[in-house]
Amino acid sequence: MKQVVVIGGGIAGIATALRLAEAGHRPVVIETRRKLGGRATSFVDPRTGQMLDNCQHVAMGCCTNLLDLYRRLGVLDQIAWHPITYWANPPHAPDELKASWLPAPGQFTGAFLRMRILSVRDKIGVGRAMWALLRMGLAGRERWRGRTFMEFLRETGQTANALDRFWEPVVVSACNLPSDQVDAPFAMQVFQEGFLSHRFASTMGLSAVPLLQLYDPAEALLAKVGGEVRLGVSAQGIAFDGKRVVVTDEGLLEAPCVVSTVPPERLSRLCSDAMKAADRRLQRLDEIRFSPILGVHLTYATPVMTTPHLVLPGRGTQWLFNKGLDAQGRQHVHAVISGADAWVELAEPEIAARVHADVAWACPAAAGLQPTEVRSVKEKRATFSATPGFAALRPGPQADARGGIDNLFLAGDWCDTGWPATMEGAVRSGYAAAQAITEADGVVEDLPIAPLARMVGLR
Ligand SMILES: Cc1cc2nc3c(=O)[nH]c(=O)nc-3n(C[C@H](O)[C@H](O)[C@H](O)COP(=O)(O)OP(=O)(O)OC[C@H]3O[C@@H](n4cnc5c(N)ncnc54)[C@H](O)[C@@H]3O)c2cc1C
Repeated sequence: MKQVVVIGGGIAGIATALRLAEAGHRPVVIETRRKLGGRATSFVDPRTGQMLDNCQHVAMGCCTNLLDLYRRLGVLDQIAWHPITYWANPPHAPDELKASWLPAPGQFTGAFLRMRILSVRDKIGVGRAMWALLRMGLAGRERWRGRTFMEFLRETGQTANALDRFWEPVVVSACNLPSDQVDAPFAMQVFQEGFLSHRFASTMGLSAVPLLQLYDPAEALLAKVGGEVRLGVSAQGIAFDGKRVVVTDEGLLEAPCVVSTVPPERLSRLCSDAMKAADRRLQRLDEIRFSPILGVHLTYATPVMTTPHLVLPGRGTQWLFNKGLDAQGRQHVHAVISGADAWVELAEPEIAARVHADVAWACPAAAGLQPTEVRSVKEKRATFSATPGFAALRPGPQADARGGIDNLFLAGDWCDTGWPATMEGAVRSGYAAAQAITEADGVVEDLPIAPLARMVGLR
């Protein structure tokens, strides 16, 4: 049994520690905050005493590793699956995108053709792009590395309306960057693996409990198998002396190996210049840029939303989530704005006015009302910015054949998982780091590609 210090108790840290413990090692997770979950977390709003998520976190059916982690944590049954995506189309009822009985990639054909927010010309263009994505296959998207997704959309002749009302809401929500900034393969992956590969892949999973409760069980589970979680403890540095020593604000922690799961700028601060000189993975940490997300919680005195969620095509706010009614019949709505550069410097009253205008646009029952409570949560460094060139900055879990510090392992959603900055990416990175140490199984398999999608060329 090897003691392994895991720095960071976000999703990547939890995933790493669980898999290490299962393989017979003794993980010690140190986490600065007094709770687990990292960026996917909840807090008590001091103004209302309500437990709120920092932001709605959406899982999808294709997130096989995240779902595997939820199963290991015993919380898989807390994920509510939403087979229909509702696209606001006022003053009409929302368009409903729902998979039919057809296998992928045809499962959305009927519902897509019925969408009223897009014209026939818009739909022909979208169909052409989907066909190109199928034909280029999973491998073909790599040829787009270094170019933006907008270049692909222009090449496939998309209309302005399709760009604004179909592509942009999906791309910004999934990649946290607009199409004219995101490195094309990141967005292509969303459509290829999320929509075209398997009929369950794009089904949306939302936690039925505050996010915090999904990760709470990790502490007891790890303790049962000899691991440990130390909350409220920060790593101040990692010493480089052959045997790993983590300097914490509680003293020194020695271990034969250390896994860092903290974001890149934090890792950069933990490593000395000598470490950076010795390990190529640590040399470009400061080049990684970030993109903000704004989550806004609004309360209305009476019910305003009838669907569980809404996509707001062509609006500043991309998604609304219906968080239900409280005992007094007040409606809690959660609004999400990804790629929120233009919003993060705004004051809360201005944010409230803009988001309420979008709610009133999408939900006729909110017109004429004002929210009674508004709480905005700005996450300025929500996710890495997956612009062209970013992929080359992502390190693998362990030192490679060209050298490096062989008992320092790296994980975190920003590491080289091939995934956008997501909970799935974080779990994959953690499983890969644990595998590098234990040599046991690591990342679990993707959903199988539907035979028809494979035949057409997806893989
Ligand atoms: C607003 C928002 C909305 C999002 N929406 C979605 C979504 O809908 N779907 C989705 O899949 N993903 C979403 N994401 C992304 C997702 O939250 C992240 O990809 C994932 O949580 C990253 O996990 P991680 O473990 O890699 O990093 P983190 O969560 O950042 O974990 C790192 C941990 O390390 C700790 N730490 C840092 N420094 C130290 C130190 N010196 N010592 C000890 N501990 C330290 C931190 O406190 C933190 O807990 C969203 C993110 C944000 C911010």
